[in-house]
Amino acid sequence: MAVIVAAAFAVACAFCQLVDQGFTDTPILPGQTWHVHDPARPHPHVVTPAGAPGGAPSDAVVLFDGKDLSHWVNLRGGQAVAPAWKLENGYVEVVDRAGDLVSKEKFGDAQIHVEWASPAVVAGSSQSRGNSGVIIMSRYEIQVLDCYNNPTYADGQAGGIYGQWPPLVNPARPPGEWQTYDIAFEAPRFEGEKLVKPAYVTVFYNGVLVHNHKQILGAMVYRKVATYSPHAAEEPLLLQDHHNPVRYRNIWVRRLAGYDQP
Ligand code: MG
Repeated sequence: MAVIVAAAFAVACAFCQLVDQGFTDTPILPGQTWHVHDPARPHPHVVTPAGAPGGAPSDAVVLFDGKDLSHWVNLRGGQAVAPAWKLENGYVEVVDRAGDLVSKEKFGDAQIHVEWASPAVVAGSSQSRGNSGVIIMSRYEIQVLDCYNNPTYADGQAGGIYGQWPPLVNPARPPGEWQTYDIAFEAPRFEGEKLVKPAYVTVFYNGVLVHNHKQILGAMVYRKVATYSPHAAEEPLLLQDHHNPVRYRNIWVRRLAGYDQP
């Protein structure tokens, strides 16, 4: 009996292997160049995921692992200077008027992971309570703010596309607790001076979806309607010095390419 079962299993597996190689007699997928189950379609690159949630996968650029600020500069008066934000205990903390912290490396389409904490000791209210920002391409701000029982205008809440769209919901943790942003960002495209495709963003805030492929209106601006100005295909990631001692840790970015990369 065991022999018969084993023989049947071997035949089935041989059949599986043939089938797993794909088909060329199947229809072409609409809008694509590939057959359904096309054996010639490139296999996705192998990425080793992190050992724990929130960790950097193998193809990520780790911008800050808690040890040093070698991937960053401070931007002060338009000049790049050595980082002056406070580095201690595995995090970096905004130093008032030290300037924005800007990555040396530049990114376009990207997956971005950032962890942040607003001050445990509450000071100020509304927009002056734990304000900072994750500013993608140095232009498109996902607001950082202590929004735990802190009323402010909706499009200025944490997780909001500042001045444009509030977060879909408010999943804020209490002051002092670590919070996460996981962002998928599609950079805008320009042809010369002309915008040919706006930016889009998807944001998970503490694991909760707060933007789902939302179109960005333009570069962050205060009390005005955002507009686009042409810029390079890749630009630095910027963490905002909004004068409050917000902390950051575990920052990594994956450059995103399309499907079917050879
Ligand atoms: Mg801000």
